[in-house]
Amino acid sequence: MTVICFLSSGANAADSSNALNAIVTSNATMVAQYVLSQTTGHTRKKARIAIIIDDIGNKRADADAFALSEKVTFSILPHTPFSTQFSEFSFHQGREVMLHMPMESLHGEALGEGAILASMYPDEVEMAMLRALESVPHAIGVNNHMGSKLTQITLQMNAVMEVLNNNRLYFIDSRTTKFSKAHQIARQHGVYSATRHVFLDHFANEAFLEKQFSQMLRKARRNGSVIGIAHPYPVTIEFLKKKLDDLPDDIELISVSEYLNIQNESFMSAPRLAKENRLKQENDSQTSAIAPE
Ligand SMILES: [Zn+2]
Repeated sequence: MTVICFLSSGANAADSSNALNAIVTSNATMVAQYVLSQTTGHTRKKARIAIIIDDIGNKRADADAFALSEKVTFSILPHTPFSTQFSEFSFHQGREVMLHMPMESLHGEALGEGAILASMYPDEVEMAMLRALESVPHAIGVNNHMGSKLTQITLQMNAVMEVLNNNRLYFIDSRTTKFSKAHQIARQHGVYSATRHVFLDHFANEAFLEKQFSQMLRKARRNGSVIGIAHPYPVTIEFLKKKLDDLPDDIELISVSEYLNIQNESFMSAPRLAKENRLKQENDSQTSAIAPE
């Protein structure tokens, strides 16, 4: 554009040549500046970390976690003394809420109320999911609490993913066993899903947290984004408060649905209401239970 304007202004050949050289030089400078800008921290894409605090809901002290950045996602246990209250408060904070769904483990740990067991029929699994979702309003995704046994069993995981798909909820595999089929089954059902990369605090002390947090940042820088899971232990909350207030410039904290948005361009989180679906399912089963005359 500049060249055309200049040449059409009637200047002589030498002037034109000088002017063209100037344009080439300035273009080269622009290219060099562009290349430089791509390699400096200022414009480079940040590595992203999504952090889930799960096992929330049993104790009033879990509320201390509300002091953490609102980008930290909370995964709340169903049917606990604070399930609904903490879920409502998270939502009003603008914080993303997940249901932390208890599923049977291989080691017989206590699972709390409303857990999904390997002995359940698929319709019992679906009902357990819907009841749990009702006690954690505003949940837009689910991850498994325990589940080293259940996440390996296709029949029950199919039923779980059916509910998630019907309610447009996402699933994060906590990966309590390397044999988990949950992520794979979620995908087969069209459920947006991902797998946890790092557990931050299975030993609740600062040295271990530091080691795991560094590992999470390394993975984020290498892969672009990661999901870490932690728990509402006092040491973890204090540690994360410090770390998240002072993140390195090349790291950004995001919610879990933002993580899924990065991975899947078509992902849009828009959950349906679990209560409506449960009532509909109950009506359907009552209707189908009536024998035709
Ligand atoms: Zn858990």
